[in-house]
Amino acid sequence: MPNTLYLVPSPIGNLNEVSPRVKEILNSVSFIACEDTRNTQKLLALLNISKPCVSCHEHNEISESQIIAKRILNGEDCAYLSDAGFPCISDPGFLLTKECIKNNIEIIPLSGPNAALLALVGSGLDTTHFMFYGFLDSKISKKEAEIAGFLNYKYTIILYEAPHRIDETLSSLYKILGNRKIVIARELTKMYEEFIRSDLKTLCEEKREYKGELVLVLEGKKEEIKEINDEIVEKAKALEKLGYSKKEISSIISIIYSINKNKVYKELIKD
Ligand code: SAM
Repeated sequence: MPNTLYLVPSPIGNLNEVSPRVKEILNSVSFIACEDTRNTQKLLALLNISKPCVSCHEHNEISESQIIAKRILNGEDCAYLSDAGFPCISDPGFLLTKECIKNNIEIIPLSGPNAALLALVGSGLDTTHFMFYGFLDSKISKKEAEIAGFLNYKYTIILYEAPHRIDETLSSLYKILGNRKIVIARELTKMYEEFIRSDLKTLCEEKREYKGELVLVLEGKKEEIKEINDEIVEKAKALEKLGYSKKEISSIISIIYSINKNKVYKELIKD
């Protein structure tokens, strides 16, 4: 009978967001592994749960994962918690999960709070498709190279950021991507929760002070102009005067403005 690794979310601010199922699993497992034993012990104390905790964090995850997987194989169940939100999401837990899968241990993730998804659903930006990117690099050159990678991405982008880096990140985003809608979700689930719905240009000019924990939800690349407008008609006329055929003009215009070639051709032969 395989034993289980439970991936258990912890509150990102509001302690009432610990579900009855999370409590039940924390009560039932043989031991708890966590990013920081002091933080998790505080949470367990609030829930009136007493369990042995071992630490498994960024700096010891490779070696600890093997020890934890062995214990599970020997018949114990384990719950893994990071300091806040989901383990594995900009937090440790991924290497442990991988090690357990390698050992055919069952993985059961529990539902719960996650800053990225709360920010996205409250943002009012398009939720049809989105990318969770997490933290950008702290070095500005690497950060800007990462941002350049977003240039042609059409869908909503979710970033985590620390308050002392937000000004630099907003100006890099504006410099590289131009003006776009952005929503900053601050202190989610806490008393001073706030959604700042704005755009990059305005936020860069305003120079606000951002306190607490922040998620950035950024609009994807806007659709190119798809309709034929006066500017395009003028350009077509100029090309015609230069002796280009209607077919050639359609091709040139379609490349410049990312418009369907046939649509342009139909417009040119209209009169
Ligand atoms: N594992 C967590 C999750 O599932 O959301 C993320 C942990 S990551 C180390 C911490 C970052 O998440 C913060 O810097 C911030 O960007 C975001 N975050 C965490 N709690 C938040 C909150 N209450 N409000 C806004 N952002 C939060």
